[in-house]
Amino acid sequence: MRTGEELRKILRRIEGRGYKAYKDIKDSYEFEDYQLFVDHVQGDPFASPSRIRVRVPQKAAAFPRYTYSNKSREIAFRDFLTRRFSQATRKFCRGNRGTGKSGIIAIDRPGQEILERTSAFVTEDYVEARFVMGLPAFGRSIAGRQAEAMFFKELPQIVRSSLFCETVEEEELGQHIETVEDADYLRNQLDQLGLVAFVADGAVLPRASGIDPQPLTVGRVVPFQSPESLRVEVDLPNRGTVLGMGIPRGVTLIVGGGYHGKSTLLKALELGVYNHLPGDGRECVVTNPDTVKIRAEDGRRIEKVDISPFIANLPFGRDTQAFATEDASGSTSQAANIVEALEMGAQVLLIDEDTSATNFMIRDHRMQELVSKDSEPITPFIDKVRQLYQDLGVSTVLVIGGSGDYFDVVDRVICMVEYEPHDFTEQARSIADKYRAERRPEGGKHFGQIAPRIPIGHSFDPSKGNREVKISSKGLQSITFGIHQIDLGAVEQLVDISQTRAIGDAIYYATKFMDGKKTLQEIVSAVLKGIKKQGLDVLSPWPVGDYAAFRGMELAAAINRLRTLVVRQ
Ligand code: ADP
Ligand code: MG
Repeated sequence: MRTGEELRKILRRIEGRGYKAYKDIKDSYEFEDYQLFVDHVQGDPFASPSRIRVRVPQKAAAFPRYTYSNKSREIAFRDFLTRRFSQATRKFCRGNRGTGKSGIIAIDRPGQEILERTSAFVTEDYVEARFVMGLPAFGRSIAGRQAEAMFFKELPQIVRSSLFCETVEEEELGQHIETVEDADYLRNQLDQLGLVAFVADGAVLPRASGIDPQPLTVGRVVPFQSPESLRVEVDLPNRGTVLGMGIPRGVTLIVGGGYHGKSTLLKALELGVYNHLPGDGRECVVTNPDTVKIRAEDGRRIEKVDISPFIANLPFGRDTQAFATEDASGSTSQAANIVEALEMGAQVLLIDEDTSATNFMIRDHRMQELVSKDSEPITPFIDKVRQLYQDLGVSTVLVIGGSGDYFDVVDRVICMVEYEPHDFTEQARSIADKYRAERRPEGGKHFGQIAPRIPIGHSFDPSKGNREVKISSKGLQSITFGIHQIDLGAVEQLVDISQTRAIGDAIYYATKFMDGKKTLQEIVSAVLKGIKKQGLDVLSPWPVGDYAAFRGMELAAAINRLRTLVVRQ
């Protein structure tokens, strides 16, 4: 390892030279109270900025053991360091210092969720931050003086104000850690309590806007209040006793007038698979970790999925036991989304009428009279939802404001009235008794089999031109895998672009396990096992600072949407 002064010397030597001379600084350097690693140097001022790490020995950083003493705490701690570091870059980094990305210092930027990330690490020996720097140039000439200011003035200030215990607010850090620990604990309790979700009293569910995930603060915000009959009490390790609405296993219907907060509640349940920041409003809103939001997604590709529980006898005798299409309809896409989720072991399905195909959800008496069962390929969800629970143990929470026929097949009915949930189960029952639905159930006796699928390795080609592997993420909802685009626009439980990035590389990593025998679920499990053992770093040949943890569900969803995918059933 070289000394910091040696880095200074190199920067002075290469001042004014062609950009490629920056390659000389790829090395590690011992600074006064930390080590600096220049892992990768960008090729020109417009390329992705250079990858840098800083490691502060615990002797100097001095974070007490309790801040990372279990997995929940460790993840929260690393998230906290990332946020502190990010704040510090905005405070101490001057920004633009020349051409292209010259002058930037940036670390991954977490949103409302607290996810495991590769931007920061902690061990008993050190804390480490991974970030990027835009090595400065004017045109293509190295701006050595500017680089010197970045490495010797700005970076030390950023590091000192974010990676040392004495400079961070211990109370804030403590709250961060305790919030995550409580949420994990609460989620772990769900099964034992017979619940699929819990929403704490006082929780703030609505968001600032359709594009701003921060809590709604303007106007009247109605904090969540559980109906008496569904109220559950849980003791958390840090917060103590919390009260809130427990949604039991089974089939739950959420009804209520338009604009009364139904979708907002469902959205909060969708994201209850993740932990949220202190102050988010959803800190104690948790959902079974294997909960999947299901929606219609017309236009998606489907590769040999057995959608026969929902759809059979298509025109021209098309096969629905190995249904394949380049351009799914609303109902076939929704059916495939369910079957694919079941194939991956989903425990809970969430469905909102806003994003569902009507003909998939309901077929009423009059329509049954007009269009006979023989000429309607679709068995609507209403005739399958109970079997899902009885045969497979899979619970469903549905938002449907438009059809009381569902009263016959649900275990409970929650009605939203001005953003407050009420237990309307009894009322719904007596209405169902009084006005008997005349529709005939069409779903048969059993849900049907879920056929596992085996992905074929050679259908995954990550190459592009002369690059053997070229994978990138364009925003949250799109991965470019080789020359193919994977559209994740309808995968609603993906929340962070760093998850998308990790999933892109995880698809390639997954191909290592494709031996023509392993099923998709087995392959995804193998990927998750590799990550659990070696961290997200296992997805990349070099240290990456902008991966975030993802679920097997979203990895499978991405694989299922790769347009070249070939499987064997
Ligand atoms: P629905 O699905 O019942 O039609 P939404 O859930 O879409 O209604 O909510 C309608 C609007 O009300 C949204 O703009 C949402 O942000 C707002 N909203 C939801 N819950 C609350 C609440 N608890 N307090 C204040 N506003 C809310
Ligand atoms: Mg709605």
